[in-house]
Amino acid sequence: MRIDILTVVPELLESPLNYSIVKRAKEKGLAEIHIHNIRDYGKGNYKQVDDYPFGGEAGMVIMIEPVYNIISKLQKERVYDEVIYMSPDGEIFDQKMANMLSCRHNLILLCGHYKGVDHRIREHLITKEISIGDYVLSGGELPAAILCDSIIRLIPGAISDETSALSDSFQDNLLAPPVYTRPADFRGWKVPDVLLSGNPKLISQWQESQSLERTKKLRPNLGKEDY
Ligand code: SAH
Repeated sequence: MRIDILTVVPELLESPLNYSIVKRAKEKGLAEIHIHNIRDYGKGNYKQVDDYPFGGEAGMVIMIEPVYNIISKLQKERVYDEVIYMSPDGEIFDQKMANMLSCRHNLILLCGHYKGVDHRIREHLITKEISIGDYVLSGGELPAAILCDSIIRLIPGAISDETSALSDSFQDNLLAPPVYTRPADFRGWKVPDVLLSGNPKLISQWQESQSLERTKKLRPNLGKEDY
């Protein structure tokens, strides 16, 4: 899978996409992430990428021309499945969407900044708008990093234990069961006996019932939520 991210603050994307599972997936050749600085496509000597909004509202707006130039350059090089704009008024991101996007080959993610982007970008160049939640951030970079992380860890082979991503919360609309590691007894705080029993059938029954119980208690509407 290849992801191209368009941003005016590339520095914001450096560390979240260069460590841990995402880093290993890139090293294994499972994912490629290319970060493009919109400013490199800016207008004039000052590489201008933003301007005042028509109508006189406060704040700056990312201009259409530099964004158009990058997107059309990329689209000449390969076919993109989606051109995504990270936006607080987009469709709310969830595990189902992550699963779906992890099966795509080429994605473009556009990060807005300041007041947002010229609306014609959204009308003519964007195929999908995604929000990571009902709150407003300063830029689309952290949302884009969240999207990349959640998608890339789902690519088969990205996590060494193949089944591990499938047993995470939200797959099957269930929360994950609790996990424990050594020591089995810490100051009298004990790991549930069943996990030490060595009986795989009993263990998986316990995990399943914990999943159901935790989902009922913590997220009773999971899977039934009407976004
Ligand atoms: N004026 C806009 C907010 C701009 S915030 C509005 O009121 O809707 C600046 C940029 O941050 C946006 O262009 C978007 O790319 C990103 N952003 C902010 N909050 C976000 C969220 N919840 N999900 C995804 N992207 C977000």
